[in-house]
Amino acid sequence: MAIDHVTTLECTICGREYDPDQVIYTCPEEDGVSGILEVKYDYDVIHDNFDADLDGTIDSQWKYEAFLPVDDEADVVTLNEGGTDLFDAPNLSEELGVETLVKDDGRNPTGCFKDRASSVAVTKAKHAGRDIITCASTGNAAASLSGYAARGGLDCRIFVPGDAPAGKLAQPLVYGADVLAVEGSYDEAYDLSVEVTDEYGWYNRNAAINPFQVEGKRTVGHELAEQSRVRGEIPDWVVFSMGDGCTIAGAWKGFREFYDLDYVEDTPRMLGVQAEGASAIHDAFHDHDDVDDIADTLADSIAVGRPRNTIKACRALEESGGTSLLVEDEEILEAEKLLGSTEGIYTEPAGATPLAGVRRAIEEGIIDTGETVVVNSTGFGLKDTESAKRATGDVMRIDPDIAEVQQRYDVPESAAADD
Ligand SMILES: *Cc1c(COP(=O)(O)O)cnc(C)c1O
Ligand SMILES: [Zn+2]
Repeated sequence: MAIDHVTTLECTICGREYDPDQVIYTCPEEDGVSGILEVKYDYDVIHDNFDADLDGTIDSQWKYEAFLPVDDEADVVTLNEGGTDLFDAPNLSEELGVETLVKDDGRNPTGCFKDRASSVAVTKAKHAGRDIITCASTGNAAASLSGYAARGGLDCRIFVPGDAPAGKLAQPLVYGADVLAVEGSYDEAYDLSVEVTDEYGWYNRNAAINPFQVEGKRTVGHELAEQSRVRGEIPDWVVFSMGDGCTIAGAWKGFREFYDLDYVEDTPRMLGVQAEGASAIHDAFHDHDDVDDIADTLADSIAVGRPRNTIKACRALEESGGTSLLVEDEEILEAEKLLGSTEGIYTEPAGATPLAGVRRAIEEGIIDTGETVVVNSTGFGLKDTESAKRATGDVMRIDPDIAEVQQRYDVPESAAADD
């Protein structure tokens, strides 16, 4: 084997270590699939293999291949995911009163952040000689995995909740996947996908139970570190929405690795944002005991009742000195409109959730004026136009008559005539 930079898989609950060569999803010593494994690396090997310049030029996440848990002989399955822009957001910053930057991951090949993980998962599955890959998804992971499975020549069979937005159901069909729309919640679709993995041995890319899945998500942390280094300033806060919690955990791990290797001089605090109606990670982080597993939010990508990666997500919040908070659906929709109308960045509700969280955090004194904040737009707005229309209201309908325009904009009649 030639993955000599991966040392062990360590259980996040009992600390037992496993050989990464075996396909083990979760620690057999724990109940069900609760014993999520953490991939451990030999950073001396990584440092020796990583010879890219940290100059801000990032064509894809595979710039950081030395950090990714793939065999160096493997054929990489990629659509050039990652390398997304970190935009200054002057209009938005003025509106908020806090310097804000936007990392636009909606620009990934299938329109969302999850492409970082799918590329790694399909590369690994293909190299291991697997020909069927599966996952359960609130929508985006399904679309993403399907695209990469097509690219890699693998069969893809996915489980989604039946009420996922239409755009997210159409996308995997175009990529040629079998889409099994489960009459039930994401949590039920997830359990079913785990069952088929056990029974039929399909390669499972699910959030958290596949320990390698989250590893691709580290590259957003690597990129943020590199981009911050080039800007000459480490942000005070990096903000993500949380569903299963893999995204924020991966992002933190990546950033921290660059800090540990002395590529950057400081780390940001992580702010994790959930919807009021799907708050399990927030509840766990703040030791609330009235925890339920209801998932009721229009931000479908984070409508998760029983998050699979609460432990790693809470660790990211804690280690970074960060925190979590909740926002209402109304605030998410307002944030979607705000980001679009101030900076021309169209995001889906889960991608707007971080911005809604920043507004809350400023109000509550968690974020101070004078601090710098990165909001991560994790998915593209066209994925869910239904919600967008709820955020904006409808178009103005008029007759094809200039008088109607004149009436609406109150243009003097003579000026209209001159044009
Ligand atoms: C999946 C997803 C998230 C949440 O990521 P988790 O790893 O489940 O916490 C956020 N935004 C978008 C657009 C997503 O698709
Ligand atoms: Zn264990």
